[in-house]
Amino acid sequence: MHIALVSLFPEMFAAVTEHGVTGRAVKQGLVAVRHSNPRDYTVDKHRTVDDRPYGGGPGMLMKIDPLQQAIAAAREQAEQETGASAHVVYLSPQGRRFDHSRAVELAQKDALILVAGRYEGVDERLIETEVDEELSIGDYVLTGGELAAMVVIDAVTRQLPGVLGHEASAEEDSYANGLLDCPHYTRPEDYQGRVVPEVLLSGDHEKIRRWRLKQALGRTLERRPDLLEGRAMSPEEVELLAE
Ligand code: SAM
Repeated sequence: MHIALVSLFPEMFAAVTEHGVTGRAVKQGLVAVRHSNPRDYTVDKHRTVDDRPYGGGPGMLMKIDPLQQAIAAAREQAEQETGASAHVVYLSPQGRRFDHSRAVELAQKDALILVAGRYEGVDERLIETEVDEELSIGDYVLTGGELAAMVVIDAVTRQLPGVLGHEASAEEDSYANGLLDCPHYTRPEDYQGRVVPEVLLSGDHEKIRRWRLKQALGRTLERRPDLLEGRAMSPEEVELLAE
């Protein structure tokens, strides 16, 4: 997958492109990360990337031309490298809430361009003409879109085939099957008087699978009942919930 980052602070992305599972995916070539910095498309000697908003008021906006050119360059590169046209996402607190299902869908794209805003955001006409989708990572306002873009990169990358060491682990994570994950335990068997549930020591894989599913169902019902609304339950899930 090709991911282009349009940002004034490309160095911030080292957190996901150079470390951990996502960093390994980049090194293995499963994800190709490219940068396009609006500052490289400025023409004045101060390399100005912000401008005053029409109508006045506090704060600045990102200057439209350098940003548009940075997106255009990212588009061209994505098309050259993948042969596909890129899906352009503007990270914005006003966007649709980013969630697991959108991460899975975005992981199907050949090329993504993530546009990180700064200051008070970007000119509305740029969103209208250049952006396919606005995504928000939550109901709060960040100082810039980079952290939000990193959240998207991380969540999307771990959905790509071959990225997670153990193929099945993404499928068992919270949200993957519409449920929260079950509780997990590692050594020691007794931690401050709290012992690992016996079934996990039994070696009976079928029993363990049913116990985990029951725990996941119970946890979801308790913490996120909204996830169960309208979710089709299997006969086994109905049985386990009733137990
Ligand atoms: N004036 C804007 C508003 O109230 O909608 C907020 C601008 S914010 C200070 C600067 C940039 O941070 C935005 O352009 C956007 O890229 C990013 N950003 C802030 N909060 C975000 C969120 N919850 N999700 C995604 N991006 C966010």
